[in-house]
Amino acid sequence: MSFKRADIDFANIGFQYFKTNANIRYYFKDGKWDKGTLSSDETFPMPIAATCIHYGQAAFEGLKVFETKDGRIVAFRPEENAKRLQSSAKKMFMEPVPTEIFMDALNRVVNANKEFIPPYGSHASLYVRPLLIGMTQQVGVKPAKDYMFLMLVTPVGPYFKNGFQTQKMLVVEDLDRAAEFGLGDVKAAGNYAAGLRGHERAAQQGFTDVLYLDCKNRKYLDESGPANFVGILKDGTYVTPASHSILPSITNMSLRTIAKEDFGWKVEQRPISVDELGNFAEAGCCGTAAVVSPVGEIKYRDTTFKLYDDGKSAGPCIKKLYDELTGIQYGEKADKHNWLYEIKID
Ligand SMILES: *Cc1c(COP(=O)(O)O)cnc(C)c1O
Repeated sequence: MSFKRADIDFANIGFQYFKTNANIRYYFKDGKWDKGTLSSDETFPMPIAATCIHYGQAAFEGLKVFETKDGRIVAFRPEENAKRLQSSAKKMFMEPVPTEIFMDALNRVVNANKEFIPPYGSHASLYVRPLLIGMTQQVGVKPAKDYMFLMLVTPVGPYFKNGFQTQKMLVVEDLDRAAEFGLGDVKAAGNYAAGLRGHERAAQQGFTDVLYLDCKNRKYLDESGPANFVGILKDGTYVTPASHSILPSITNMSLRTIAKEDFGWKVEQRPISVDELGNFAEAGCCGTAAVVSPVGEIKYRDTTFKLYDDGKSAGPCIKKLYDELTGIQYGEKADKHNWLYEIKID
C-alpha cells in the first residue's frame, strides 16, 4: 500500500502504547447499540459507580493487523475474536457485541490510523485492542444495562527483536489465575490482575513466567499467565492441555490446524500430567503477542527439565510452527485456511 507512514522506527519499537489518530466507541443504551464514533480523545467519561470498575464487568480482546508482502492490509482471524468477546460477554452477563459491529469498528479504526500500520518488512504489526465494559451507575450487584465497546490500536514491534529467545517457566502449586469453573476460559480483565502474583513470583526467581496447574488436582498443566502452553513430545506429537480454566487461544487453535493438516503431525488436546514433562522434546507459549515463544526450561519442585539444546535455543518444531504462522500473516505463505481478513484502505 502506498500511503504515508508515521515517523516511527517500526522495526525497533516494543510492546507499548502509542498515541494514534483515533479510537472508536460504541454505546449500548436503551436496548440498542449506536453507530459508533471515532474520537481522538484518549479518555472517556465514566459514571463513578459503573459496574466495570466496581464489579469487574470488563472483557477485552487482542488481535493484529499486518501489511502483507503484496501490500494488502489484513487482520488475522478477527471473527474469532468477535466470537470470543461474545462468549466473554455472555459469561459475565454483559451485552454481547454483534460481529458486524466488531468488524465495522475494525475497518473504521484501522482506516483512521493507517499511517500507524507498520510497513511490510519491519516485522512489526498494528495491535488492536477491543474492550467491552459495563457502564451503568449502580451499587447493587447486578448486570449493567449500559455498555461501551471501545477499539483502540497501537503499533507494536517484533516480539523477537534479537532472534528467538527461550523462556524459563516455573510451575507453581500455591497460586491460581482462575478457578476450574470460574472465568479462566473467557478474557475477563480481572484474570490479568489475578495473574500478576504469578508473574511477580516468576520474575523474582529469574523465570519468564509461571505455568499454572489445574486447581483441583494440582497435577495437570494448565497455561501460563497470558499464553497457552504447547509441548512437542519426543515422538513429535503436538500436545496442549485441555482444561475448563484455559483461555481458548486463537493462536493455539491455528497452530493445531497447521500441525495437523499442513504438517501431518499428531495433535492431542488432553489433560497433560506434570509427570509427562520428562517426555517433552520442545515446548512453547503461544498467543497473539509472541505467536509462539520457545520454552527452554521448566522447573517443577526440585527438578529442572531442560528441553531442546539444553534449553538454549528454539527447537525445530516450534520454529517451524512460528515460521509457518508468521509467513501466513505476512502473506509470504499461502493462506490455505482463509485466515486473513482484508481491510480495504481508502
Ligand atoms: C489472550 C490470552 C491467550 C492468547 O490467546 P490468543 O487468541 O492466541 O491471543 C492465552 N491465555 C490467556 C489467559 C489469554 O488471556
